[in-house]
Amino acid sequence: MSTAHDCIFCKIINGEIPSAKVYEDEEVFAFLDISQVTKGHTLIIPKKHVENIYETTEEVASNLFARVPKIANAIKKAYNPVGINILNNNGTAAGQSVFHIHIHLIPRYDGTDGFD
Ligand code: 5GP
Ligand code: ZN
Repeated sequence: MSTAHDCIFCKIINGEIPSAKVYEDEEVFAFLDISQVTKGHTLIIPKKHVENIYETTEEVASNLFARVPKIANAIKKAYNPVGINILNNNGTAAGQSVFHIHIHLIPRYDGTDGFD
C-alpha cells in the first residue's frame, strides 16, 4: 500500500505537506481533514507509520486512542457540535484511502454540516 517514505500522512507529520494542525505531542499528530465532512472534521494519527489496525501494536494503539477524549473536547470547545462520530476505516473495502492508520473525529450539528 504505502511505506513511510511515500506516505501522505508521514509527510504531513514532518511538515513536507502543510496541514491545519489541531494537536501534537511526542506520539500523535491531529489535523483537519482536507475535505471536512462537517466543520471541525479532524484526523488523529500516530507519528509512527503503521498501515492499519492489524499492524498496530498495543503501545501505538494506547497512545493513539488515549488522545481521543482530549481532542474531542478541544473540538467541542472550538465548534460547539451537538454530537461527534469517532471512527476508523481499515482496508479499501472499509473505506480506507490513506494507508497510515487514523481516527476520524466528525462533529455533528443539528441537520447541517456546520459550515452555514
Ligand atoms: P480514510 O478514507 O482513509 O478513512 O480517510 C482518509 C482521509 O484523509 C480522507 O477523509 C481525506 O479527505 C483525508 N486526506 C487525504 N489526503 C489529505 C491531505 O493531504 N491532507 C489532509 N488534511 N487530509 C487528507
Ligand atoms: Zn505514514
